Amino acid sequence: MKISSKKGLAVVLSSLKSFEKPKVLLEQYPTEADIAAEVLWNAFFRREIEGKTIADLGAGTGVLGIGALLLGAKHVFFVEKDEDAIQTAKENLKIIEDRFEIKLRRKTDFLQEDVLLFDEEVDVVVQNPPFGLQKERHADRKFLVKAMEIADVIYSFHKADSVKFIKELSKDNGFNVEGFWRFEFPLKNVYVHHRKKIQHIEVGCWRLEKVN
Ligand code: SAH
Repeated sequence: MKISSKKGLAVVLSSLKSFEKPKVLLEQYPTEADIAAEVLWNAFFRREIEGKTIADLGAGTGVLGIGALLLGAKHVFFVEKDEDAIQTAKENLKIIEDRFEIKLRRKTDFLQEDVLLFDEEVDVVVQNPPFGLQKERHADRKFLVKAMEIADVIYSFHKADSVKFIKELSKDNGFNVEGFWRFEFPLKNVYVHHRKKIQHIEVGCWRLEKVN
């Protein structure tokens, strides 16, 4: 297996399965392959993927965690409370194993549970949690607080207008905002209440680092 470019990573990730029947209340919006690749490639260059233990919180179909494995992560915990999603994540891992003729399963743990129950210490968290678009405002808060408990480095997706919220929460928990990327997320026509065929929302990925 050799992934030698960001584009190459995006191509492989784009071959993965997405949510079969996305669940509205769980906000099952997948991260687009090229966006996942952009963020993971940056993390890789900062030496925060290869040989590292990583938690993908709210892993969904596994695109972030699988991308990390492709870039040489030592171990990835996929934490996801939805049984169907975690099943798809396992199938996605199998797709990669077959395609590259490698064994990755022993480098992984698939945990079907609420992120609040996860308590392993890891090097890095990568997460694209629910943003609270549906009902719970700042449904992403508990993901961030959990990530700050278990890791010193966090890559986390949120609505782009969460700048103040993330800054304050980071400060309160002894973290600094050390990086920010802005993306347009297509919310494909997966939910009935989306009238336009494809809507976009402005999303940011924050890199947070614990203050020493
Ligand atoms: N990280 C994936 C999925 C993003 S969608 C990706 O980037 O493509 C957010 C995911 O969080 C959904 O799969 C949803 O089922 C999961 N989720 C929502 N609340 C959760 C919770 N409390 N604990 C664990 N997973 C949760």
